[in-house]
Amino acid sequence: MLLKVTDLDISYGSKATVAGANIELNKGEILSIVGESGSGKTTVIRAIMGCLPGNGRVSGGDIVFDGKSLLDNTPEEWRQMCGTEISMIFQDSGNMINPIRRIGEQFVDYILTHAPQTSRQEAYQMAIRMLDDVRLPNPDNVMRSYPFELSGGMRQRVGIAMAMTFSPKLLLADEPTSALDVLSKMKLLDLLSKLHQEENMAILFVTHDISVAEHLAQKVVVMKEGQIVESGPAHQVLR
Ligand code: ADP
Ligand code: MG
Repeated sequence: MLLKVTDLDISYGSKATVAGANIELNKGEILSIVGESGSGKTTVIRAIMGCLPGNGRVSGGDIVFDGKSLLDNTPEEWRQMCGTEISMIFQDSGNMINPIRRIGEQFVDYILTHAPQTSRQEAYQMAIRMLDDVRLPNPDNVMRSYPFELSGGMRQRVGIAMAMTFSPKLLLADEPTSALDVLSKMKLLDLLSKLHQEENMAILFVTHDISVAEHLAQKVVVMKEGQIVESGPAHQVLR
């Protein structure tokens, strides 16, 4: 078992928002959390990411990754784990990327932060390989671009390329396709299944779009009003 969420309670201030959530994810599995807006999907995945917004906090239960509770993680332990054990992508990776620096500088810095022994030249080549892996045409050009010069779909690919650089065991994503048009969405889903197959990486992603879950997920968890109301194999739950 790669990730085990047990009886998780989450509150914002004194307001209990998520109650008794249980999620199990094995190595290499893809699980989707689906549910209507406001049901607590983002709250659950942000708790797993260790970054609940505002005054959110885990008030009960446990989140165990690779045999160790993430709730005990110090900021330093998170820093070491992020990108190498667990990676995250967001709705529009444009948000994570600094708008006023070229993609190449940011990507190279990202690699050097996690692998300080690497030379700038090696890091550049690594970045190019990753951009190529996520099927971005003309990676050299992408490296020279500013984020605003890329489409939303391309920025999302850059975000995935960065997230995948150190072959994490788990990729977490909150609504990775919702800022994309239909074509970019389908392309992104194909890319994620390809990366999943090649790297045997587990993916846990949130979506309000059933068709996205259908396309990608093996297991589905349905949330409603802060609770998990259904879970199981995707074909069973989504039918
Ligand atoms: P979803 O991602 O399924 O749309 P969220 O997890 O964002 O749902 O929200 C679940 C509930 O938690 C909602 O009632 C929302 O108002 C509340 N909530 C979300 N973020 C915060 C926050 N930062 N502070 C207080 N309440 C929040
Ligand atoms: Mg949400």
